[in-house]
Amino acid sequence: MKNLFKLSIAVAGLFSMTACASNQQEKATTTDTAMTMQQDTTAAPAFTAAMVDNKKDPTCGMPVTAGISDTAHYENKVLGFCSTECKNEFLKNPKANIAAAELK
Ligand SMILES: [Zn+2]
Repeated sequence: MKNLFKLSIAVAGLFSMTACASNQQEKATTTDTAMTMQQDTTAAPAFTAAMVDNKKDPTCGMPVTAGISDTAHYENKVLGFCSTECKNEFLKNPKANIAAAELK
């Protein structure tokens, strides 16, 4: 009878430890997510629409106010692009694409 009593305490203890461990795991995951989000918000945009002379990304047509990741200089103008890919595409044939940039 005494042995059975000890066993039930041990089992109860094991259960509470397991519950405790899973709680800690959940907390750790939440903290990780919060930290990741914080890192994202600290990444400030390098360029703003006010710094460029075009209204639209000439390659994809996206307004520069939506975000500029890269810029190129063309005929004394600063052009903003949503991505380096768009900039490279524009630079393959800037004369044909400059109209789509809608210069200010
Ligand atoms: Zn683009």
